[in-house]
Amino acid sequence: MTFDIQKLLRDNIRKLKPYSSARDEFSGEAAVFLDANENPFNAPYNRYPDPRQKELKSKIAPVKNVPAENIFLGNGSDEPIDLLIRAFCSPGKDNIVAIAPTYGMYRVAADVNDVKVIEAPLNADYTLSVKTVLNTVTQNTKMIFLCSPNNPTGNALEQDAMLEIMDNFDGLVVVDEAYIDFCPEKSLLPLLAKHPNLVVLQTFSKAWGMAGIRLGMAFAGQEIIDVLNRIKYPYNINILTQLKAIELIELEKEKSDWVKILVAERKKLAEKLTEFPFVVKVFPSDANFLLVKTHDPRGIYNYLVDERIIVRDRSGVALCEGSLRISVGSEMENQRLIEALEALI
Ligand SMILES: *Cc1c(COP(=O)(O)O)cnc(C)c1O
Repeated sequence: MTFDIQKLLRDNIRKLKPYSSARDEFSGEAAVFLDANENPFNAPYNRYPDPRQKELKSKIAPVKNVPAENIFLGNGSDEPIDLLIRAFCSPGKDNIVAIAPTYGMYRVAADVNDVKVIEAPLNADYTLSVKTVLNTVTQNTKMIFLCSPNNPTGNALEQDAMLEIMDNFDGLVVVDEAYIDFCPEKSLLPLLAKHPNLVVLQTFSKAWGMAGIRLGMAFAGQEIIDVLNRIKYPYNINILTQLKAIELIELEKEKSDWVKILVAERKKLAEKLTEFPFVVKVFPSDANFLLVKTHDPRGIYNYLVDERIIVRDRSGVALCEGSLRISVGSEMENQRLIEALEALI
């Protein structure tokens, strides 16, 4: 493995001179700020937010046990996904490899940037095939997207398999850990320092219960983080999100309690769903949702919509034939789902 980030970058990005904002050039304490054409009234919203989110990162670093300089914050995880593709993949030339089935945003971001996606199907039992992934790589493959726990299959990928891919690929390996709080022992974050081509994505949207404030994280070596910082919009995380996240990160204990409740609810829900005659299989899950294979996914989906209960129909996705993806809700929400399904028997 020879990881050379300069060689991997697009030429125009390597040469890019980033926009330097007023708040980049002076970020210290001062009494009078007359450098950014801001309005002196309506504090604190009148001020541009910190472009590097220093205070927020200083709160995230100890929670994640990662130095602040190895953290990039984005407008959801969607932002680092898009920025990584834009920084490293030349449109119309380079490609990314992604496992299949997986989260749809890798493809959307690639399509927007005219970057080809080569799919590396998971095994039939949803485990990762190292051989399939590495055989899919071409000379123009700049990054491989893995997702663990994977959406929509729910399973965490095997750590040894992911390591083998990292060790045998010269480009970036992006591991999306949006659901990792539901199985924290399976995170690759502790391996970050030893694997220069690893990028780990996490989010505040799932276990932390903050999907509405749009805050995603990318963890990587400093060179990769620097690239993302150079090409992002200067003020990508607005002041409301920064302030709210600084406040809500104090709820780490509550987050752990929510995770415990949701994991217990997941188990209950899986057991009840398994008993329905129209359910073929409830797949094991390391996340806050269940993939449920049924005899009549469309019929059940439409019936639930009529009952004003919305699940996700994934039956059109290869390897997910017949399956619905069901988020684990509150005890009451899950109960309502079960009661609605009982009327179907
Ligand atoms: C929900 C989800 C995300 C979260 O995206 P945000 O933009 O941070 O809300 C990322 N990756 C996967 C696989 C997801 O399922």
